[in-house]
Amino acid sequence: MFKGLSVHAEPLPVMEAFYSVQGEGFHQGKAAFFIRLAGCDVGCHWCDVKASWNTEGYPRYTSEQLVEMALNHASKLVVITGGEPLMYDLSLLTQQLRKAGFAVNLETSGAYPFSGTWDWVCLSPKKNKAPLDELMPEADELKVIIYNKNDFAWAASFVHRVRKNCRLYLQPEWGKMPIMMPEIVKYIKAHPSWEISLQTHKFMDIP
Ligand code: SF4
Repeated sequence: MFKGLSVHAEPLPVMEAFYSVQGEGFHQGKAAFFIRLAGCDVGCHWCDVKASWNTEGYPRYTSEQLVEMALNHASKLVVITGGEPLMYDLSLLTQQLRKAGFAVNLETSGAYPFSGTWDWVCLSPKKNKAPLDELMPEADELKVIIYNKNDFAWAASFVHRVRKNCRLYLQPEWGKMPIMMPEIVKYIKAHPSWEISLQTHKFMDIP
């Protein structure tokens, strides 16, 4: 079993919770309160939040406490990210946030069973740990990170597995952007159902 993985949903280990602007994907540019849950065993070598992999040393909060934190900010949008948030049962957290009037978006690799009630699900599958079939129809947005040329065929392999109206995004891995950006532009011009997603928060130097 993953070191540090809680078998109990609550209180949830939180690496960080902060108010910022969504930098990538469909909701890019919107102010949101981000809750980054700690814990991930997917192990992407290019992961830019490796500090989220373990849960040790991070505070744990109940849904009520997290709702209180979210209520301190103007936006009514909360993004639950990680780590891999679906390592935990998020039914109670999403229920409480929605009851408090928030729209609640999820960012997941899809490697763990689905839980929670969401306004938007961003599925970003990872090669190290394949997404579960049950996640596919839940995705409102499929975001595939492009690290090398093989990733285009891998991205295409998901198109028939998600809903027809699922938004399709290719996002260059930050460190590979100079090399892969021309390839992504070429691919999207030939496959216009896909769109480009960039980590604009990194350009803006915001969290
Ligand atoms: S799934 Fe996300 S948090 Fe986990 S290793 Fe991959 S990029 Fe990092």
